[in-house]
Amino acid sequence: MDREQAKIKITDLKKSIEYHNHRYYVLDDPLVSDAEYDRLFRELTELEAQYPELYDASSPTQRVGAEPLDAFSSVSHTIPMLSLQNAMSVEEIKDFDKRTKKLLETDSVDYVIEVKIDGLAVELVYINGVFTLGSTRGDGYIGEDVTQNLKTIRSIPLSLLSDAETSVPERLEVRGEVFMGKKEFLTLNEARELSGESLFANPRNAASGSIRQLDPKVMAGRKLNIFCYAAGQITGITFAAHEQFLQFLKKWGFRVNPLTKLCRGIDEVITHYHYIEGIRDELPYEIDGTVIKVNHIALQNQLGAISRSPRWAIAFKFEAREEITIIEDIIVGVGRTGALTPVAVLTPVTIGGVEVSRATLHNEDEIKRKGIMIGDTVVVTRAGDVIPEVVRVIEEKRTGREKYFKMHDTCPVCNEAVIRPPGEAIRRCVNINCPAQIKGSIEHFASKRAMDIDGLGTKLVEQLVDKKVIKDVSDLYYLKKEDLSALERMADKSALNIIDAIDASKNRSFSRFIFALGIRHVGEHISVLLAERYGSIHTLVAADTETLLSIPEIGPEVAGSIISFLKDKKNTDTIERILTAGLFIEYKQAGTKALRGFTFVFTGTLHGISRDEARKTVEKMGGKTAPSISRKVDFVVAGTEAGSKLDKAATLGIKIIGEEEFLMLIKEKV
Ligand code: NAD
Repeated sequence: MDREQAKIKITDLKKSIEYHNHRYYVLDDPLVSDAEYDRLFRELTELEAQYPELYDASSPTQRVGAEPLDAFSSVSHTIPMLSLQNAMSVEEIKDFDKRTKKLLETDSVDYVIEVKIDGLAVELVYINGVFTLGSTRGDGYIGEDVTQNLKTIRSIPLSLLSDAETSVPERLEVRGEVFMGKKEFLTLNEARELSGESLFANPRNAASGSIRQLDPKVMAGRKLNIFCYAAGQITGITFAAHEQFLQFLKKWGFRVNPLTKLCRGIDEVITHYHYIEGIRDELPYEIDGTVIKVNHIALQNQLGAISRSPRWAIAFKFEAREEITIIEDIIVGVGRTGALTPVAVLTPVTIGGVEVSRATLHNEDEIKRKGIMIGDTVVVTRAGDVIPEVVRVIEEKRTGREKYFKMHDTCPVCNEAVIRPPGEAIRRCVNINCPAQIKGSIEHFASKRAMDIDGLGTKLVEQLVDKKVIKDVSDLYYLKKEDLSALERMADKSALNIIDAIDASKNRSFSRFIFALGIRHVGEHISVLLAERYGSIHTLVAADTETLLSIPEIGPEVAGSIISFLKDKKNTDTIERILTAGLFIEYKQAGTKALRGFTFVFTGTLHGISRDEARKTVEKMGGKTAPSISRKVDFVVAGTEAGSKLDKAATLGIKIIGEEEFLMLIKEKV
C-alpha cells in the first residue's frame, strides 16, 4: 500500500470505528462483533505507526469510549479512567513482559492476573464510608451520573465495613465492572423477544443499556452485579501493592473476583490464563480474556501511561470464537408464541470446540440489515451460551448464484396467515391450534426452569403431538406408560422414567407453575411476584387488572396479557384439568421442603443475610448445608471474601451463585 492509499484507508477506518463506537457505547446496539471491531482498530493502529505523518490527535486510537449522554448529569473523574492495551497471543504477552522489565531495569516482575469481565466500567465514590456518587467511564474524563441505578445493585455496599485494621478513608474511589450474568441475560432477552422488543446483542450491552436506564425501577428488575478491581483517588491510605489493595476492597465489603491470582513472573501468568480459559464456559458470567497488572504500585507509577491506556497493565484476550462458513439455506421456525424465526442452515463448522450447523437470524429486518443471502459465505460467531450468530457477509466471496430470502406470508407449519403487529419486527402465526405452538408450549411447560420434567424433550414432544397422543399440557398428567411405550424407540424402562418424572412435577412451586403456563410477558421474575401476591391458582385466575397493576413491577401491557390469558376459557379449562390430575400448587412459605435434595456450601461474607440465617433457611426448606466442597454439593454460595473453595467448585463443575442469586433462589422456591 502506498502513502496515498494508506491515507484513504486511514480515513475509512476512522470513520467506520467512530460509527461502531457510537453504536456500541451510546446506543448499546453494536453492528459488528468485538473481534471484527478489534481487527479494524488494529489495522488503524498499525497504519498510524507505519505512517506517523498521517496521525492526528483526534484519531479513535487515542481516545477512550464515547462522550457521555446528555440525559444524565456529568461527573468528572478525579483520575482518568483509561482503557487497556491488548495482547492476543502468548508471544504478545511475553513481549509486554520484556518491555516492562526493560523499562523497569529489572529481570523479574510480579503480576496480578484478573478475569476481564465483559461489562462496563463504573466508578463508585465513598465519602466517609458512605456511597455518594456513581458514574460510568464515559470518555475516560467525564462520565454519566448513574448513582441511583447503581444503588439498586445489591452487591455494591451502600456503606463500607470497617474494623481496627481497615479504617475508612475520607474519600475512596473504587472502580469495577458492572455486568449481567449469562442466565439473567438469556432470561431478559427471552422476555424481550416475547414482548416484541429488540434483543440485546450480548450481556455487556444489556448491562450497559440497563445502567443507563432513566428509570431506576426498570434497572432494579435487571439483576446486575459487580466485581471491583481498581482504585481512583484515595485519601489517607496508601498501598504498596495492587494485591494488598484488593484485600482491603474485600474487607470494606466489595466483591472481588475469586479467580484473581498473584503470580511471580510471566510464566505463572500464562499458566493461570490457560486455566481461566479452560473454565470460561462454566462461569456464570461472560469474560473476554484476562487483565495482567504489575503488582507493585511504585513500579506502576514508574511505568505511567500512554494516551489511552496505562503501561503497567494489559488485557490478554481470548481468541475470538469466529469461523467462516456458508449459508446453505434459510429455514423458518415457529415458536410457542407463534413467532416466526429465520434460522441459517450452515455448512457445519467447529467454533471453539463446538460444532455449529445453525445460527439464528432473529427476524427479517435483521437479514436485510446484514444483507444476507442464501449461498453467502459468512462469518459466524459463538459467544458462551449464546446461540451462534451470523456476524457479517463476506461480499467478495459472492458468485452471483446467491438467492434473496423472502419471509413467509403463511405459517410454515399450519399454513394459516401470519401477522406482523405494527412496531414489531416479528411475524406471528395466530392460529392457537398450530402444532408448532402446541409443541412449543408443551416443551416450555416441561423445561428445566418451569415444571422440570426430566426426559420430556423436543423429539418426544414432537412424536406425542404428531401422533395425537397429547394435544395440550394437561394431557401430560393423564398419560399412561402404554401410551409412551407404543412410540418409536421407547423402551418400557424409559417410558416408566418419564411417567415418574411427570409425577414428580406435581409438586413444583406455584411460581414455577405460573411461569410454565407461558403467558406472554410473564417470565420467572413476574411469576414469583404473582405467586406472592395471589397465593393460590384460583385467586390468580380471579385476578382483575386493578390488583395486578397494584404490583409495582407490573404495568398495563403485562397486566393486559395476564387478563387476556386468564379470560380465555380454553386456558382455564386446561388449568382445571391439570389440577384435577392431582397437582398441589399453592404459595408455600419458606417453611416447606422446597430445597429437599439440594446441598449448599457457603463461602465468603454475605451482606443481606447472615451466614447462620442463610444456613437455617436452607435447612428449614428441606435442604442441607456442608462445610466443604465435594461432589455431593449442588450450589456454592459465594459472598465477598470467597476463597479457594471457589476454584475447587469450578474444577468440579459445581454451580456457583452469588448472594443475590441465592436470595432469589430461596424466594423463587415459593
Ligand atoms: P477493553 O474492553 O479492551 O479494556 C478496558 C476495559 O476492560 C476497562 O475499561 C474495563 O471496563 C474492563 N475490565 C474488565 N475487567 C477488568 C479488570 N479486571 N481490570 C481492569 N479493567 C477491566 O477496552 P474498552 O476501551 O473498554 O473497549 C474496547 C473494546 O470494546 C474493543 O476491544 C471491543 O472488544 C469492544 N468494542 C466493540 C465495538 C463493536 O462495535 N462491537 C465497538 C467499540 C468497542
